[in-house]
Amino acid sequence: MSSKKGLELKPNPRTGRYRLISGNWKMNLNHLEAIQLVQKLYFGLRDVDYSFSEISIHPPLTSLRPIQLLIESDRMRFSLGAQNCYFEASGAYTGEVSASMLSKLNVKYVIVGHSERRRIFGETDVVVAQKVKAVLSEQMTPILCVGESAEEREAGQTDEVLMRQVRLALAELSGETVSTLVIAYEPIWAIGTGLVATPEDAASGAQLIREELGRLYGGSVADRVRVQYGGSVTPTTAHDLLEAEGVDGLLVGGASLDAEAFSRIIRA
Ligand code: PEP
Repeated sequence: MSSKKGLELKPNPRTGRYRLISGNWKMNLNHLEAIQLVQKLYFGLRDVDYSFSEISIHPPLTSLRPIQLLIESDRMRFSLGAQNCYFEASGAYTGEVSASMLSKLNVKYVIVGHSERRRIFGETDVVVAQKVKAVLSEQMTPILCVGESAEEREAGQTDEVLMRQVRLALAELSGETVSTLVIAYEPIWAIGTGLVATPEDAASGAQLIREELGRLYGGSVADRVRVQYGGSVTPTTAHDLLEAEGVDGLLVGGASLDAEAFSRIIRA
């Protein structure tokens, strides 16, 4: 990403980690609408807005190439992200897209294991782990989504679910590799529901994830992994969620489809 002098991305002075705010557009906007939204977002942000957080945009597949060209031709300080990919490199997998196809488009981040993929498309922890590996093998960064459902939360199983999802998704990876990942804590009950977790919920999810990383790979790896919060984030809730202990950024769905709302979240 290019940067103007004095306005380069700064790490959070409290943690030394770089914040990341990601917009997951899900299955919304055709490529013409996508271009318009990115332009609107770009014109609404000031140079200083890029110095606190890296910003990644995750449009549907049909918009990746046009947005890549837009970002690169106008030297926009957005990172390109994808919402999913398949774990095989190529072959008879109708409808799927490989990690290497994404990396050729200069995609930097790939969301893996989003709860909608797990729930609607039946992705298991094993599939999620294969996808994490595929993304890493193409020098991209997975944004691994983990989170408990409302029923699991009510049954007091949040810790168990988060620990299992983290452990299985990262199985066989070295600590050094794990330290480069982004993990999004996305309580399922808060995604697309308007029910936002409190900053305390977000902090406690981030802590559970880091504790499990610490047990598996040691404290210094756990300290380097960036943990986002995701689930019905709005401009009103963004600031307090970003300030929550252990939270290094936000994964934003619905509100990232509105340039004004997403830029207010970025400024939060
Ligand atoms: C998401 O898609 O990851 C998400 C958090 O969606 P929303 O912000 O709409 O709840």
